[in-house]
Amino acid sequence: MAETDRRTIIAGIGAGLVAAAANGACAAPRDRKIGYAVVGLGGYAELIMSKFAECDNARLTALVSGTPAKLERFGTQYKIPASHRYSYANFDSIRDNPDVDVVYVILPNSMHAEYTVRAARAGKHVMCEKPMAVSTAECQTMIDACRAAGRKLMIGYRSRFEPHNRLAIEMARNGFVGPTRIITSEHGFNAQPNQWRLDRALAGGGSLMDIGIYSLNAVRYLTGEEPVEVSAMESTDRSDPRFGTVEDRISFLMRFPSGIESTCVSSYSSNHNAYRVIGTKGWIGLEPATGYDGHKMFVHRDGRTEQQSVPAGKKQHAGQLDHFAECIINDTQPLVPGEEGLADLRVIEAIYRSAREGRRVQVGA
Ligand code: NAD
Repeated sequence: MAETDRRTIIAGIGAGLVAAAANGACAAPRDRKIGYAVVGLGGYAELIMSKFAECDNARLTALVSGTPAKLERFGTQYKIPASHRYSYANFDSIRDNPDVDVVYVILPNSMHAEYTVRAARAGKHVMCEKPMAVSTAECQTMIDACRAAGRKLMIGYRSRFEPHNRLAIEMARNGFVGPTRIITSEHGFNAQPNQWRLDRALAGGGSLMDIGIYSLNAVRYLTGEEPVEVSAMESTDRSDPRFGTVEDRISFLMRFPSGIESTCVSSYSSNHNAYRVIGTKGWIGLEPATGYDGHKMFVHRDGRTEQQSVPAGKKQHAGQLDHFAECIINDTQPLVPGEEGLADLRVIEAIYRSAREGRRVQVGA
């Protein structure tokens, strides 16, 4: 393909993304921002709270924590009055707070289901962190609770709002490097000892539930397809005190209905953050792919590899918070609803089963 064609296609996709972001922001009325209560004031919640300052339609209005000192500290920092600070014990009284539209659950994984259901019963919309829960059964309970309450449910898949990932999705699905044949996706970090992530009762599993889910979710959004079959292999040194109850590494292959295959890495003992979409005419690669910032995209086509500049858009965290606010204002379906979280858990259960039984497993079988 000629150089002008190549640039025109990418510019066209990029312009579309920028326009989509702008349309989303304009669609919402300006009279009142949607109010969020953040539940669980740990590391990620601290980052999220700092991102409301970048939002057009979302604001932080309440805090929920079991630690009074954190309520005091963050309450003071973000000017949240004492009447809008809750403990886990009086959390349900949040139903009487008209300043809270959304409850954002940022707790250890095994607590997501309980707090999502309690929030829905309190009449609030729910944003819940990934992984949505620790089983497909819990995911279904959360979806049912929100539906019964007539409230929306979205999962915190922030990469769907990140400009490099959005461009990669458009390019992959539009065949920019030809029809996709293989996707490689690897995510991992060296886990620190003594934390809830290494306790199966709280985490529901090891690296796959926490970081490997990015490998899986990326392949699902890059293809727009659901895997039909998986094959997995786990490698865990049980003499390492970190891995008494959860897995370290788990590698998995997935096969998709169109014939696409993926090969994925999940690790708690090595650093990875990359994916590559390989088509019949070249490849699209991101590294880092799904971190908080610093994303880089490379495209190989026509015999050469180039770094691809990506049109700037709203950053992923603010994009995610504003998107859900706009869904509430406009009564539309979130890009990543509870069903997305359930779809990942369905594959995760198949991956664990494949590794355990040492055989290929049909997803959902
Ligand atoms: P963290 O350990 O920093 O915070 C967890 C919070 O939960 C703490 O405030 C802790 O006090 C509270 N908590 C309540 N009950 C607890 C219990 N029984 N045991 C331990 N902690 C308890 O964890 P984090 O990194 O903030 O992760 C929280 C959630 O956010 C997880 O589901 C994680 O997967 C998700 N997360 C998502 C991203 C992302 O980029 N989307 C990044 C980090 C974490």
